[in-house]
Amino acid sequence: MMNIAIIGGGIAGLTAAAYLARAGQTVTVFEKAHTLGGRARTETKQGFAFNFGPHALYRNGAGVKILRELGVEFSGKINSTDGAFALDNGARHTMPGGFVSLLTTGLMNLPAKLEAAKLLASLPKLETTPLDSLTVREWLAREVKQPKVAQLVQALFRVSTYANDPARQSAGAALRQFQMALSGGVYYLDNGWQTMVNGLRAVAEQAGATIQTDASVTAIEQNTSGFVIHFANGKSLLAASVIIAASPTETAALVKSNETLANWARTMIPVRTACLDVALTHLPEPHARFGLGIDQPYYFSVHSATAKLAPDNGAMIHVAKYLPPASRENSGENAQTIEQELEQVFDLLQPGWRKTVVARRFLPRMTVTNALVTAANGGIRPGPTVPGSKGLYVAGDWVGNEGQLVDASFASGKAAAEIIVQQAHAVAAAA
Ligand SMILES: Cc1cc2nc3c(=O)[nH]c(=O)nc-3n(C[C@H](O)[C@H](O)[C@H](O)COP(=O)(O)OP(=O)(O)OC[C@H]3O[C@@H](n4cnc5c(N)ncnc54)[C@H](O)[C@@H]3O)c2cc1C
Repeated sequence: MMNIAIIGGGIAGLTAAAYLARAGQTVTVFEKAHTLGGRARTETKQGFAFNFGPHALYRNGAGVKILRELGVEFSGKINSTDGAFALDNGARHTMPGGFVSLLTTGLMNLPAKLEAAKLLASLPKLETTPLDSLTVREWLAREVKQPKVAQLVQALFRVSTYANDPARQSAGAALRQFQMALSGGVYYLDNGWQTMVNGLRAVAEQAGATIQTDASVTAIEQNTSGFVIHFANGKSLLAASVIIAASPTETAALVKSNETLANWARTMIPVRTACLDVALTHLPEPHARFGLGIDQPYYFSVHSATAKLAPDNGAMIHVAKYLPPASRENSGENAQTIEQELEQVFDLLQPGWRKTVVARRFLPRMTVTNALVTAANGGIRPGPTVPGSKGLYVAGDWVGNEGQLVDASFASGKAAAEIIVQQAHAVAAAA
């Protein structure tokens, strides 16, 4: 019998595999795709590294700590705020990052500037836990008078959390993420996030983990001695413990009639983004590197200005729209409208860009994270243990209470592995 099976070879599954293998456990990762990495994959097109939408790694997040602990090397730089614009009412303005830019920006009038200055100065030190059960909308209504300041704060929360759902998002969780972003900034990684995926794979395999791609799991049955894992090719295997590192819906579908998993899948709110990823021969306006929508939920960033993602002179750019909840962006017509909106954002920051396109890719509806951290659940997410199912664990960006986005995937992958290792030690000590 296999000791531990991990379903899913994204960041969460590979992190769990690395920790388990290093602790001497026998572990196998099964990934249904041909390539490892899930949403952290990078495709190379004509020398440009295409992440799946904009990907930034928080310097002070769980991911960087775990990569260092595992000895996974990565290179890249912290994205600077040079060349940043606020986009409002179809025009670009100075981004109010510091005191001087706040005084000079045409984004807001004087009363709004004064309120923004006071509020932004207070946010880094704000105690966030008491705000976990308050929605962003409720918190803004309580704290902010000027509508433009409320829009600016929502834009800062969107860029830190990817969520565009102020009526449900936890204010405490949004503020914590914003504080983390502010305190350390974000890395853009040379050659894209695939480098983290490859690094995790190498650590896991060197420590003895087995990794199988093109291995689609179709069902998992629990019996008295462990788990039977069924595969799409008709084969099956036995395992003592299982970590499912897939989405909540995929997880619930694999373990039929598990009410806990079905309930988690029903209640998670995915956070989605439309992304336009574009490679250019050169930047028409080298100084316009970043744009953040204030009245509209847009993002624009020249990732290659910070990290090595393009050939010399070339530019790798990500433009995105943070999709509102319950949107119908998957309908073909709506997707086309959104792609045009993103092209207009591009026009505003890099006029003439269309003549310099080498390659582009539009992703109308990416799931950035499987679980919005809501005020209704007080900022709490489930797992990694599954109540009532001994030996079964979950990991991913919807699991555990540490971090958001990929930091939650890293942290929950590590947490699931540590629980299994502790239990193995307890069994060995009792024997
Ligand atoms: C557009 C976009 C932008 C993002 N930007 C950022 C960012 O700036 N900062 C940040 O921190 N995070 C960001 N993220 C989030 C981050 O990419 C994800 O949180 C993280 O990569 C998720 O990793 P995971 O392992 O939990 O899940 P996934 O990457 O989804 O991996 C799950 C894996 O399980 C496999 N699988 C599923 N079912 C089965 C099965 N039945 N059998 C075998 N295998 C299976 C899948 O094929 C997949 O490879 C972004 C995501 C997107 C989409």
